[in-house]
Amino acid sequence: MKKITVLCLAVAGLLASCGTKQKEVTDMTMTVEQKVKQYAEVELKTDLSFLSDSEKEVLGLMIDAAQIMDDIYWLQAYGDKNEILAIEDPWQKEFALINYGPWDRMADWKPFIENAKVKLPGVNFYPADMTKEEFDALEDEAKNSQYTVIRRGDDGKLFVRGYYEEYKEHLDKAIALMEKAASITENKGLKNYLEKRIVALKTNEYFESDMAWMDMKDSNLDFVVGPIENYDDELFGLKTSFEGFVLVKDPEWSKKLSKFIKYLPELQRNLPVDAKYKQEKPGTESDLNVYDVLYYGGDCNAAGKTIAINLPNDEKVQLAKGSRRLQLKNAMQAKFDAIVMPIAKQVMNPEQLKLVNFNAFFSDVTFHEVAHGLGIKNVVGSTTPVRKALGSEYSAYEEAKADVLGLYMISELIKKGEVKDLTEEQCIATYVAGLFRSIRFGVTEAHGRANIMCFNWFEKNGAFNRDDKGIYTIDFDKAKECIKSWAAFLLEMEGNGDMAAAQKYSKANAVVSEVLQQDLDKINSVGIPVDVRFKQGREVLGL
Ligand SMILES: [Zn+2]
Repeated sequence: MKKITVLCLAVAGLLASCGTKQKEVTDMTMTVEQKVKQYAEVELKTDLSFLSDSEKEVLGLMIDAAQIMDDIYWLQAYGDKNEILAIEDPWQKEFALINYGPWDRMADWKPFIENAKVKLPGVNFYPADMTKEEFDALEDEAKNSQYTVIRRGDDGKLFVRGYYEEYKEHLDKAIALMEKAASITENKGLKNYLEKRIVALKTNEYFESDMAWMDMKDSNLDFVVGPIENYDDELFGLKTSFEGFVLVKDPEWSKKLSKFIKYLPELQRNLPVDAKYKQEKPGTESDLNVYDVLYYGGDCNAAGKTIAINLPNDEKVQLAKGSRRLQLKNAMQAKFDAIVMPIAKQVMNPEQLKLVNFNAFFSDVTFHEVAHGLGIKNVVGSTTPVRKALGSEYSAYEEAKADVLGLYMISELIKKGEVKDLTEEQCIATYVAGLFRSIRFGVTEAHGRANIMCFNWFEKNGAFNRDDKGIYTIDFDKAKECIKSWAAFLLEMEGNGDMAAAQKYSKANAVVSEVLQQDLDKINSVGIPVDVRFKQGREVLGL
């Protein structure tokens, strides 16, 4: 999930994504207790009844191994976890467990415990006293590997050590659990992947195991495990952090999605825009599946939670086999219940509030992903990618496009009778509720900008009206018109590739009005959580 490849969950702005881990705007005057309560506690569960006994056994072993990834991550991100467990103040301890250290990750690593040790930009990947010059002078190519740490020897000199050697005690235990899981599983793809991943953990060579993961199409279980993301290395952006996601596939939703993706060419042809902006043919090869997560270990469990995975990061694997996108449904539900719904209750007309539901939300988020495949990749009449032509403006327009074309796709599929358990009104009402959540986090980031531009377009064109108490009522006929007009506007903006025009528009329109700001302040004042934390593991699952 490198920055550019993380799935984007612009819809309802569930997390930063299509990009960075979210950095919330946290009120510095909050007590640590209030900060803990900004993370709603949720149990991570799902229906396991369709799994065989051996699958359940494998699942338990994966959870045990993911817990070890969590232990290794503590060593990387902080050091001795026992120091944190010894904290007397229960709120400080809890918040340190959420943040994997005594620093608030959503407030630029501000320490929240007196006398906390200094947060180093390279955390424990490098010696605390190492200078950049010293690193540059170190003559060992392995220093640049994403799977090595730099240490200082007794002679005072720097040396490089591979992850396996550094974390051997922990990794050997995890490997033993994974070997057992590989010996039990009846799924060939999973077995092959686990075996190759074990080799990778020992050798720091992940290519073969990533390739095996790409081939693992029919397993009900999945295990994203190992050192993966490099966000924590703020010194050189080299070193990767350990994590472990334990996942169970949602076979029904996964099947539905593969069916919807087949409609992309037809939907492209019918886009509500001039023919020259829809000449490209969208691919129908897309590895997008739906999962429930049963365990977040290590890096992925620190502070803000990811609700989608797009891996692998290795571009060689991407070139050979593409990448896999995993939508994490129960984690989305947790955020919907804890955050989106409470926000909707603050701002929506009570009659229309009844239309806001998780099924619509999940569809909005998921079709956003699919809709990135619609529209236009190259500027009309040229081979210049839109991404390049629009430069720093591109992300906001692309996210806005995916949002609105996601809504368009759902409407079309509802009209075709392909989606039966949803109405357009539910999807629109849920989308509007989600706009507030996303805008709440500011307009500096692409999704925030995308959402505020959309909000302003919809409001200006009468898709909703606000009364003097700050309650919004949607005019669905006008909202449906807005979906078409906003889609056309964005497709033209991308297709024209005119950077100056894009800048001019977003400068004038990615702006939160005073009235809207009052509504956002109201939302913030009632203590709605900003994220979730999980109760998870064998006990929660009864395994
Ligand atoms: Zn996106």
